[in-house]
Amino acid sequence: MSETPDIVPPCTGDTNSADAPGEKKPHAKENELAALRKTNIALESRNFELREQVRQLRLQNAAAESQRDQYKREIKKLRDELNDYRSPPLVLGTIEAVIDEGHAVVHSTTGPQFLSRVSEHLDPKDVTPGALCAMHLQSFSIVEILPPKYDCQVCAMEVTETPDVTYDDVGGLEEQKKLLRESVELPLTSPQLFEKVGVVPPKGVLMFGPPGTGKTLLAKAVAHHTKASFIHVVGSELVQKYIGEGARMVRELFQMAREHAPAIIFIDEIDAIGGARGNDSYSPGDHEVSRTLMQLLAELDGFDNRGDVKVVGATNRPDILDRALLRPGRFDRIIEFPLPDEEGRRTILAIHTRKMNLRKTVSLAEIAKETEGMNGSELMAVCVEAGMNAIRSRRTTITQDDFDKALAAVKTGRSGVVVQAPDAMYS
Ligand code: ATP
Repeated sequence: MSETPDIVPPCTGDTNSADAPGEKKPHAKENELAALRKTNIALESRNFELREQVRQLRLQNAAAESQRDQYKREIKKLRDELNDYRSPPLVLGTIEAVIDEGHAVVHSTTGPQFLSRVSEHLDPKDVTPGALCAMHLQSFSIVEILPPKYDCQVCAMEVTETPDVTYDDVGGLEEQKKLLRESVELPLTSPQLFEKVGVVPPKGVLMFGPPGTGKTLLAKAVAHHTKASFIHVVGSELVQKYIGEGARMVRELFQMAREHAPAIIFIDEIDAIGGARGNDSYSPGDHEVSRTLMQLLAELDGFDNRGDVKVVGATNRPDILDRALLRPGRFDRIIEFPLPDEEGRRTILAIHTRKMNLRKTVSLAEIAKETEGMNGSELMAVCVEAGMNAIRSRRTTITQDDFDKALAAVKTGRSGVVVQAPDAMYS
């Protein structure tokens, strides 16, 4: 069958032809109709195709959505598994060496060393020697890298951004306040003064004296007045069981202080690491303590006297300290904190009774006379105990009798007798 080609009659431009203008010849109309039909058929077929495509896409979309839901369920399951895997108890350790992307040597805090697998979920950049990590209890794989110790306060350092203790909260100790202010406060607040005069301010100050005589309190007050961070660490916490741990903690302590500068590092019980090193053969423990002390000396030597980090040490046993610690350029100011005298005791009592509702008959001077040999913290205990006596008697004002009883109780406590709470307190 031969197809009739769509022949459009050529336009002659003859407007005087037999057909009226705008009226088409019948066979031209048919042609046009046929062409329209053809277009219609083509469009319908295209429409059908597109609908089919839409149907296919919808089906694909539904399949994709169902797969996505399945993946979501799987991810949730895997996350739960991972959380189970990471959930405590985990073993802590320190990465000693990174073998390759998937393995590292870890010194666990329980003692032994492990060649551990590194979880794929960890960023290899975080897996570095010296990093603190958590390992799964059974497989000993590294499942988490913990933030540096100085951030998470694992190592018993306590950081207070400007403590709220002021000089007015410290009773007596006038000479000690003066000495501490000129050796710690002044270099932090007016370093240019030392530059002009041409002297080097002390790097560290050592406070010594019996317990509870206000050493920590006064160091906090200095930090408050210099708007410095107060980093409190206890010397015995720096004595660690494993080789190099104590030295590392000292390094981190100073690093943290530099980050929080201006800062005062307060090392309580410094004798725990600063005890004199004997000449006799050491035990491995002694070696570790002396390594920690050497790191402390290195840190003290390494920072600038005019810098904004000051170190304050405190001890009840200055007699056992290593001479190396006390040489000029290290703890070169030594301040004694004696037990308070009568006037000192009266001021301490006045500070601790500031907010207490005392009867007019209470004589702090009298109490100060009777508290010979007591330190600041015992005087505070007397005030608290007197307040408790008033509460036990259902009173809101404190009498001299409450103080007398409190004094007796605190003195009894000193001699080692445990004071029982009276039943009335809880009835
Ligand atoms: P330790 O050697 O045992 O660490 P310390 O000398 O550092 O003792 P602090 O911690 O300063 O003693 O004092 C303990 C508490 O005793 C303080 O919180 C404070 O309430 C009270 N205290 C001690 N001395 C004074 C003082 N001079 N003025 C006011 N309160 C004091």
